[in-house]
Amino acid sequence: MIKTQFCPRCGGLMKPIKKEDGSTILKCSKCGYELTSAGAGYTVGVQTSSSDRVKTTSVISEGKKVGRKKEEIEQEKEEYYKELFLELLHEEEYGGEET
Ligand SMILES: [Zn+2]
Repeated sequence: MIKTQFCPRCGGLMKPIKKEDGSTILKCSKCGYELTSAGAGYTVGVQTSSSDRVKTTSVISEGKKVGRKKEEIEQEKEEYYKELFLELLHEEEYGGEET
């Protein structure tokens, strides 16, 4: 998951270094050039946390779907019949006018 990156300045190997505030940056082992994850699209920490988040959200949404399905179906049914009823009314009205 950790991609090897090279220093844009000297081409040296960039090593991931964890900062005191918890963020991971890349530091060149040759010239000491620092690359922050925000500026360079470096995704060591971000990748793991985002995949974790995707997992959790998918589980949560699945649970929601199961819980909401019954209500949704009921609502859909109601709306379907309502529309059908209105359509029938409409057809009768228009049918009467046209012929
Ligand atoms: Zn460098």
